[in-house]
Amino acid sequence: MLKYDYHCHSTISDGTLTPSQLVLQAHHQKVKSLAITDHDDIGSWQEAKKTSENVGIYLISGVEISTTWHKKTIHILGYGFDPENQQFINNLADIRQLRNQRAIIIDQILREKGIVNAIQGAQKIAQRHEPLSRTHFARFLIMNGYCKNFAEAMNKFLADSILSEKVNKWVSINTAIDWINNAGGVAFLAHPLRYRFPPEFELIDLIKDFIKAGGDGIEVVYAKNSSRQIEYIADIARRYNLSASGGSDFHTDDNTMNGIEIGDIAPIPKNLRSLSQILEKTIN
Ligand code: AMP
Ligand code: MN
Ligand code: MN
Ligand code: MN
Repeated sequence: MLKYDYHCHSTISDGTLTPSQLVLQAHHQKVKSLAITDHDDIGSWQEAKKTSENVGIYLISGVEISTTWHKKTIHILGYGFDPENQQFINNLADIRQLRNQRAIIIDQILREKGIVNAIQGAQKIAQRHEPLSRTHFARFLIMNGYCKNFAEAMNKFLADSILSEKVNKWVSINTAIDWINNAGGVAFLAHPLRYRFPPEFELIDLIKDFIKAGGDGIEVVYAKNSSRQIEYIADIARRYNLSASGGSDFHTDDNTMNGIEIGDIAPIPKNLRSLSQILEKTIN
């Protein structure tokens, strides 16, 4: 199987490489098939497409949409949509407005804890006014000595549980899937093993709702998940007839996050329908 990566981030969201640098890095790592999946934004497309044509990488359009399911943030990956679909572009811009509102609230919450100018600090790190990710705030907190590492920043200051009562909800899973489908794409459930559910819910409830909403596939291979973890999700994919994708969730090579290299992931397990197979079908 050719080297692939269907989940990574550029400076358009919370990555540290520009779209072009990201494609070049993927090429350097011998990745042949790539999707850039920025949070709620497909603004990398034109630049990334140009660079990928120059180096001979097959680029699939991608996005990672923030949704809310029973008060939990769930990420839905979209692939193979028309990146020039104006309605889709507008819909994603609406989600980024929610990000902008949330950034102001995060700034207030941090201020109450004695941490001032967090939004300005996060903006400087993102090198723009908006949109901001919690990642940018986490980097600000680490750089200014408020916490030691990314996990601590997320847990101590930026956790869903700290923000949930104060910030607006993202869109529903159904809405995100409809947006992706209406732009001609397919929807995949991102990193199923990263969610922590309250006692009344399990992963399987989410997967059933995702399928009911029209979801196509699941991220079977994720970052540094073990072969047992991969096989666990692969079994679910087979049982529920979901297609399979995989990605590193690469954000940066500066070692502040999970320290993974782009394309450094396991192949998609056998006896599964892969993302590339279903996209070929839609094109032909
Ligand atoms: P946001 O989308 O602005 O809410 O920012 C959340 C981002 O923080 C995610 O997209 C990841 O990049 C990062 N993140 C949060 N929790 C984790 C985690 N447990 N492991 C790795 N990255 C995480
Ligand atoms: Mn991220
Ligand atoms: Mn995610
Ligand atoms: Mn991601």
